[in-house]
Amino acid sequence: MSYPIIRLKKGHDRRLRAGHPWIYSNEIVPPEPPLPAGSLVRVRTADGKVFAVAYYNPHSLIALRVLTRNKDARIGRHFFAVRLERALRLRERLFDRPFYRLVHGEADGLPGLVVDRYGEHLVVQLNTAGMERLWGPCREALDRLLEPKSILLRNDSPVRTLEGLGEEVRIELGAPPERVRIEENGLPFLARPRGGQKTGWYYDQRLNRAFVRLLARDQEVLDLYCYGGGFALNALHAGARSALLVDSSARALELARDNARLQGVGERVTVEEGEAFAVAERLAGERRRFGLVIADPPSFVKSRAKLATGLRAYRRLAERCARLVAEGGALCLSCCSHNVTPEDFRREILIGIRNAGRGARQLAFAGAGPDHPVHPVLAETAYLKFFAFVLD
Ligand code: SAH
Repeated sequence: MSYPIIRLKKGHDRRLRAGHPWIYSNEIVPPEPPLPAGSLVRVRTADGKVFAVAYYNPHSLIALRVLTRNKDARIGRHFFAVRLERALRLRERLFDRPFYRLVHGEADGLPGLVVDRYGEHLVVQLNTAGMERLWGPCREALDRLLEPKSILLRNDSPVRTLEGLGEEVRIELGAPPERVRIEENGLPFLARPRGGQKTGWYYDQRLNRAFVRLLARDQEVLDLYCYGGGFALNALHAGARSALLVDSSARALELARDNARLQGVGERVTVEEGEAFAVAERLAGERRRFGLVIADPPSFVKSRAKLATGLRAYRRLAERCARLVAEGGALCLSCCSHNVTPEDFRREILIGIRNAGRGARQLAFAGAGPDHPVHPVLAETAYLKFFAFVLD
């Protein structure tokens, strides 16, 4: 038995042919009779050629997400076993310790699926109706490949509402730990898969955290939006004199403090609970200066409609941070919104720095680490931007 067919409207197959994995709702002929969310379908272009197997969601703007270009493929445990093994091989080649993003959605050929690995513990996000319906075979393949001790479903990402899905956090297997010890860039950290943010650790900043080591020796460091302290602790490891870690979440700061203790640098760390802009303002008022300032905020542009306001917020953040950078010091800023291009972000930072009356030279630009591969034509998978500047 083969999957039902969904037809594309005439003239709407260019992106599909170019390798794009998404087809929007206005590009398809709605199936008759209607199909439920998450149905597996075959995709046929107007000229009658069948191109791909995808899953369908009538409630989403992204009506179809392509799973494979093999139009005769069956999507079951074997399909997942092949894709997951390819994802695992890549990570094992990149890292010698089992702590990484194992699956990065479309960029690993598994649209709507995120799997973060904390050794024997997995945290999974099913972000689409299609992937939710495929969870059974996916889980079987994961079980066989890794024999995990625990699997936690963190289906609490806001993107699920775009798919008509509710939010839930559910234990799938075993007893997911409250905290788990990981290693990153050779340093031990505690991550919080259960109660923490997102899946418990932001693996995407791994190489950027390593980069700040180059700028750290003998410096006083300010780490705004610090979460578990990843940036500041890399800086301290590289010889920074002290670090002030700021976050609005008391639990994030507790994690950061415990990480500092774990690494034996607790006495060089100060944490402050507060709103980052307000703390930056206060520090400026006190004429505090830091040799290295890092700011890694949550997305200020959660939707296209918020672009203009969000860009202004990045500009203001850059300005406030720049006022705190010592002469010849460094400023590192990140943006995790896929709605903001690197060019936009860079421009806003530079205007902000200029508004603070400072000059700047760019030292680095980077994205997420390689366990977050970028799909060749899906810009959304290249969401993270990291810039480093030295200020006059
Ligand atoms: N830099 C971190 C990740 C930051 S995630 C790392 O390397 O792992 C964003 C963090 O910003 C979260 O910990 C969140 O609690 C915090 N946050 C969100 N809004 C904030 C605000 N207005 N002021 C300060 N912190 C905020």
